[in-house]
Amino acid sequence: MSLNKKDKRDKLWTELESKIQKRAKKKDKKFVLSGKWKKLVRKQEGISIYSVDGEWVRNNLSVTFGHGGHGYVHEFIPLNEIWIDIYHSEGCECENVRNLQKVSKAFFESTLLHELVELKKMRKGMIYWKAHQIALNKEIESGLLEDPHKEIKTPKDER
Ligand SMILES: [Zn+2]
Repeated sequence: MSLNKKDKRDKLWTELESKIQKRAKKKDKKFVLSGKWKKLVRKQEGISIYSVDGEWVRNNLSVTFGHGGHGYVHEFIPLNEIWIDIYHSEGCECENVRNLQKVSKAFFESTLLHELVELKKMRKGMIYWKAHQIALNKEIESGLLEDPHKEIKTPKDER
């Protein structure tokens, strides 16, 4: 696993990510979304961790929301929040899941670790792609999942 995997995406992504990251500090701190689709799980390192219905988020806020997100990548997420999807979706990159299968606890925690690492790197100014690669590596190191894009074989502990 290489730390410097080349970014082969359309450069529109880098431009968008950079604009959102630069504007992050200017966010209205009073703008905090809430609803039945969002539940506080715990607080960790000064960040409030929420489990969210990602389908609701994609239907109402952004189609680009994946398994998890934070305020340096999504305009509508406050800087002290991390959102983790409780579902795998049709568009997700996971190999062994069906649409709207609930994520396992291991998957949830692995995604959370990813988002936490990525947020902290981006807060210091690192660009998304680099932060994302480091976060992926941390996920692999943690061993919570065999592969960050694969569910555990027997999801006994489904949420
Ligand atoms: Zn998935």
